[in-house]
Amino acid sequence: MKNNKFKAVIFDLDGVLEFKGNVYPGAVELLQSLRKRRIHLRILSNSTLKSRRTCTEKLLRRGFYVKEEEVITASFATAQYLKSLNPKSIWVMLKGDGLEEFSHFRHDSENPEYIILGDFREGFNFLNLNKALQLLYRGTKLIVMITEKIDNSMGELELTVGAYGKMLEDAAGIKATYIGKPNKYIFDIALSTLPEIDKHRILMVGDKISTDILGAKNADIRSALVKTGEFKQKDLDSPVNPDYIFDTVRDLNKLFFRP
Ligand SMILES: [Mg+2]
Repeated sequence: MKNNKFKAVIFDLDGVLEFKGNVYPGAVELLQSLRKRRIHLRILSNSTLKSRRTCTEKLLRRGFYVKEEEVITASFATAQYLKSLNPKSIWVMLKGDGLEEFSHFRHDSENPEYIILGDFREGFNFLNLNKALQLLYRGTKLIVMITEKIDNSMGELELTVGAYGKMLEDAAGIKATYIGKPNKYIFDIALSTLPEIDKHRILMVGDKISTDILGAKNADIRSALVKTGEFKQKDLDSPVNPDYIFDTVRDLNKLFFRP
């Protein structure tokens, strides 16, 4: 089963390397071994609350050796995408450190060219959502950081960004642009940070078929599903099939190293 073909491995974070504050056994060591083999590493997270900087800091605290350039969060990817649009002004509906990524843009919550939707937590109240609706009605464009409507990663089921994005789209009768996994934008940005590597030599490792594995398929790279984090057995009924399935991230060693 040993396989030397992969030159780059893109890891999802939540549910793959760690879950609910605990690092999975063997995760730190696996990344070290891959790095020693000069395999390019990226961390691709649908987190909107964290910036690239604070996500890297968290990983370092947990014992991972990673560089900021190797970490891509949905907030970072959204800001990169937004740069290409050169917007006149934006209203970022987001709480947390992810806001750092948008510090170079002109902010205007009264008449923005774009609304940027991230995890706004309690900011998702009637006043703000209604204000967003009215702006979208008048022609403001909507960019939503992630598609996912629910989130289990904190240990309790929560409504998340995609649910509000869909609601605003439906209510205003407009179409939003979605950035995070499984959408192409975040994969384009992640792949653009890698050197020229044949796509079949790039592996995405994730715990969710609907985001990690589907996104990898769309991006035409290989994928490995790990049965940890938010994985549920019924996910395997999906028509989207990963190239590899492992019980935990530690088992990826079988793919790269002799037992
Ligand atoms: Mg995950």
